[in-house]
Amino acid sequence: MERYYQPEIETASREQITQWQNERLVKQVKHVWDNVPYYRKKMEAAGVTPEDIKSVEDLHKLPFLSKADLREAYPYGLLATPLKNCVRIQSTSGTTGKRVVAFYTQEDIDLWEECCARAIVAAGGTNEDVCQVCYGYGLFTGGPGLNGGSHKVGCMTLPMSSGNTDRQIQFMMDLDATILCCTPSYAAYIGESLAEKGYKPEDNKLKAGIFGAEPWTEEMRQEIEKSLGIKAYDIYGLTETSGPGVSFECEEQTGMHINEDHFYAEIIDPETGEVLPDGTKGELVFTSLDKKGFPLLRYRTKDICILSRKKCSCGRTHVKMTKPLGRSDDMMIIRGVNVFPSQIETVLLKEGYPPNYQIVVDRVKNTDTFDIYVECTPERFSDKVSEMQASEKELAMAMRAMLGINPKIHLVAPKTIERSEGKAVRVIDKRKLH
Ligand code: ADP
Ligand code: ZN
Repeated sequence: MERYYQPEIETASREQITQWQNERLVKQVKHVWDNVPYYRKKMEAAGVTPEDIKSVEDLHKLPFLSKADLREAYPYGLLATPLKNCVRIQSTSGTTGKRVVAFYTQEDIDLWEECCARAIVAAGGTNEDVCQVCYGYGLFTGGPGLNGGSHKVGCMTLPMSSGNTDRQIQFMMDLDATILCCTPSYAAYIGESLAEKGYKPEDNKLKAGIFGAEPWTEEMRQEIEKSLGIKAYDIYGLTETSGPGVSFECEEQTGMHINEDHFYAEIIDPETGEVLPDGTKGELVFTSLDKKGFPLLRYRTKDICILSRKKCSCGRTHVKMTKPLGRSDDMMIIRGVNVFPSQIETVLLKEGYPPNYQIVVDRVKNTDTFDIYVECTPERFSDKVSEMQASEKELAMAMRAMLGINPKIHLVAPKTIERSEGKAVRVIDKRKLH
């Protein structure tokens, strides 16, 4: 079965994609120059004018935008069209500081929803599906984005928003939901809650899940696929570029196709800003090629990943990005060693622990402390201190093998780490508070 929402775009030739990108970029740079004094000043400072940008080959001449720019220009400084043309704002979830707002014209919303529709169809969605959206609705882009995509595909949409897990489960079972959209941490929680209510994975009608908005590992994917009896697909995006649907996974499940007709992706060295070749790990930078309300050029996402142009078995021709390894500002430097939460998640799930954990880093007497609180499964939980200590030691050794440094492991009783209904908070870095 062909799973494309817009086949002529999703499987277009490289020449065609490049042609779209070049035409749209030239128009977009002029649009921004004419309408956004903030960015025009940046261009002038860099000594570039719209005439210098003739194709994506010239993109490297343009200055970057960062979250700091968005905060400085808050709220209207990067708006590129009169407000009367805008129909909505959305805002970041504020994971890494002050929120930023993004503006949308009706065309921007259509474009965004089409990207989400591509993701739903790639996961096997059709107008026969019942699509349960339990990303948060409101300012957060997850709910509105997938809701719009689900409408475009013609699915019967359950606009649940996040939270109230009992009701989620009741609607899922009563209405025979077939597609689930939420954060991976909430999907894991729903899986756990279903099991507690005595449901087996085959008791629900779900076939696929579209999970994103936060980092998750391959091990987490397998765990969710098992507990819900589904195929779990990744979806990526950020408010600054519209929301979820910038890229999405196909049935190959080996990275996410970037919607290159709308977003031009570059990978740069986060230290020097130099553009790196495909296949190299670095910071992802996006240029919106055709958004009108809030079109960011060369926006630094802080997300670290690798781009690949290897041919994909699904037939899509758009470039693929690996799962982000985490944000560059998520990376912890503990006792001089780089540590990503995803590495810790990988070890935990491999060692048979549930994906419920919290990492606490602090600095005591000039030395970093590194504690990981990990929930036990009921089978593993023991009253015997010696048994628990042995398990803690074993897990600390597995962590050391992966990370190169020794954390202090604290095994805690089942159900004592707070579950997440949206983006999970995995790291508490108290060093920043000092
Ligand atoms: P905030 O920056 O406040 O969290 P957003 O809600 O716009 O604001 O979140 C966008 C960020 O979420 C991305 O830059 C990325 O770090 C993360 N993200 C989104 N989707 C994924 C995904 N599939 N995998 C890993 N990280 C993701
Ligand atoms: Zn593919």
